Amino acid sequence: MYHYDLLVVGSANADLVIAVERRPGAGETVLGSDLAVHPGGKGANQAVAAARLGARTALLARVGADDHGRLLLDAQRAAGVDTVGVLVGGAPTGVALITVDPSGDNSIVVSPGANALLTPADVRAAASLFHASQVVSAQLEIPLETVAEVVRCLAPGSRFVLNPSPPRSLPGDVLAACDPLVVNEHEARVILGEACVSDVPEDWARLLLAKGPRSVVVTLGAEGALVASREGLARVPSVRVAAVDTTGAGDAFTAALAWRLGAGEPLTRAAAYAARVGAAAVTRAGAQESYPTAGEVEGTAA
Ligand code: ADP
Repeated sequence: MYHYDLLVVGSANADLVIAVERRPGAGETVLGSDLAVHPGGKGANQAVAAARLGARTALLARVGADDHGRLLLDAQRAAGVDTVGVLVGGAPTGVALITVDPSGDNSIVVSPGANALLTPADVRAAASLFHASQVVSAQLEIPLETVAEVVRCLAPGSRFVLNPSPPRSLPGDVLAACDPLVVNEHEARVILGEACVSDVPEDWARLLLAKGPRSVVVTLGAEGALVASREGLARVPSVRVAAVDTTGAGDAFTAALAWRLGAGEPLTRAAAYAARVGAAAVTRAGAQESYPTAGEVEGTAA
């Protein structure tokens, strides 16, 4: 019996959001809305999403010894995440500076800050967390060498789920550990690079699988998702909802998927549940603030 259903290793950022009529050009100043500060970052988002569903969740991350770090820690604890693995200090908390225009399009500048200082040594020092975790998930907003160390530190029998975001090419040992590799359309295209000559998601899934992961999930926004393993390919339908804000939907999907896989569900069923969680998350504004509880997911049509 593992102590944690899910250990998330990843980033924690403060999202600083200002709505603007239009973006400033070089040398120009524009006035925007009041500043809104939200807890974010893919690692922190996944941990909150899993904990809100009821998963026993721990986060391994690094934040600065500053107000943004405290905001992130408070949000994790409020959701029920164990923050024993959250390291503090060394650089300011990571920040995403986000402007949103009237059409809803975002422009984002990320300052990795403390996320860039989450090292392979930090991963090794957290060995007890790895031994206590059924599933470990990661993303790529922390150094790639740190993610590679995560793969080396997995306990025998535990499962690894990777969302390679922001996407870049991955070493073979990291790819081989993924079960599954979870990508959206953009991530699939970047990771496949020149090999991506088709617009058909089934083709991306087959090509990605050929790169070595044990399984692949391609998320397709309002179209749901596609799962692929040695046993074949299957489409997972989405739940029809009125989308309000899709920020962080992929993080909620991946967290829910990782949790259900750890509970022993087959990939297709776990992905169908994750699609319901992703759909629920887009019906409310924000990322972490939008994540549903298990009871709220039960209330959605399958
Ligand atoms: P990302 O946020 O990484 O771009 P997607 O947009 O593919 O990822 O969303 C992840 C998952 O969330 C989808 O596979 C789907 O299940 C769900 N989802 C996202 N957008 C919608 C939507 N408009 N309607 C219903 N479900 C959605």
